[in-house]
Amino acid sequence: MAMNHHLHEKLIALTSERNVMVNEHLRNHTYTRLGGQADFYVTPETYEQVQQIIKLANQENIAFTMLGNGSNLIVKDGGIRGIVMNLQKLSAIKTDSNMIIAQSGARIIDVSREALKEELTGLEFACGIPGSVGGALYMNAGAYGGEIKDVLTSTLVVNREGELLTLTAEQLDLDYRTSNIPDRGYIVLEATFTLKAGDPKAIKEVMDDLTYKRESKQPLEYPSCGSVFKRPPGHFAGKLIQDSDLQGKQIGGAQVSLKHAGFIVNKDHATAKEYIELIQYVQKAVKEKFNVNLEREVRIIGEDSVK
Ligand SMILES: Cc1cc2nc3c(=O)[nH]c(=O)nc-3n(C[C@H](O)[C@H](O)[C@H](O)COP(=O)(O)OP(=O)(O)OC[C@H]3O[C@@H](n4cnc5c(N)ncnc54)[C@H](O)[C@@H]3O)c2cc1C
Repeated sequence: MAMNHHLHEKLIALTSERNVMVNEHLRNHTYTRLGGQADFYVTPETYEQVQQIIKLANQENIAFTMLGNGSNLIVKDGGIRGIVMNLQKLSAIKTDSNMIIAQSGARIIDVSREALKEELTGLEFACGIPGSVGGALYMNAGAYGGEIKDVLTSTLVVNREGELLTLTAEQLDLDYRTSNIPDRGYIVLEATFTLKAGDPKAIKEVMDDLTYKRESKQPLEYPSCGSVFKRPPGHFAGKLIQDSDLQGKQIGGAQVSLKHAGFIVNKDHATAKEYIELIQYVQKAVKEKFNVNLEREVRIIGEDSVK
């Protein structure tokens, strides 16, 4: 992609040189370790910079994409045009009595650890979810019977016009692995979680138990995007895939995990194309065998490779 020098200079003027990378490989920023390059990869350090970048993208009519920890995304091999913004440099976490206020770039695992430290219960479920706070709100992330919806009380976001808005949790329409954040185009800056006082020993026991379950059942030794599919009503995706004899099925370097059928792992330098083909293969096979539609949980973004 030919570099847009005008945009490059404007982004540097807004956020400084250290926060603007050109043709950045997104495989370095995604859990699947695949995908092409971002034209501009920007890591603002203040809320104002976030607002300015959005306004700039609007003025210049440049595409704009948010990236969190990249743990629920497949970036296609052709990469992402325009600006990709990551809030990893906005990652403060603070506690105010029974509330934890976390910036969007904080890891939800770290927020869960902060809750333990502060002897607050309610976020144990999140102790192994590798996303950022922003990504966790976007997906209403959850595990082992808990979800963000149970603990989130309010959030600070920027809308696509670059304005700051404080919203209640209800205003995000959180539901099973969804929210209205994609439709509204909000950029999450901050989240307030309201928890209850708890016994630190009991909180730690739950977290240790969930960590054990995760480590024994999930193929954490390979790059992946976690569960590829949502739980279809009345079924478990992993069981349907297993009963379709798909475990071990490989397309190029992508493989249906032998350890957990609901995961597809990047076993050997897979391309996004191979990974996506394998997802579609699994969907088709499960549909044919059980007449169940597997809906993707993982998001696919970016462009196909022109090569
Ligand atoms: C090994 C493994 C285990 C996992 N286990 C679980 C689990 O138990 N439960 C679960 O729910 N998920 C799980 N996941 C999936 C993933 O961790 C969650 O969906 C997480 O919430 C994604 O957050 P992220 O920051 O990585 O988002 P990304 O993958 O970077 O992005 C996901 C979406 O969120 C958007 N987004 C990110 N940040 C913001 C922001 N600040 N503002 C607006 N939009 C934003 C992005 O544009 C994108 O569309 C797992 C993943 C892996 C790899």
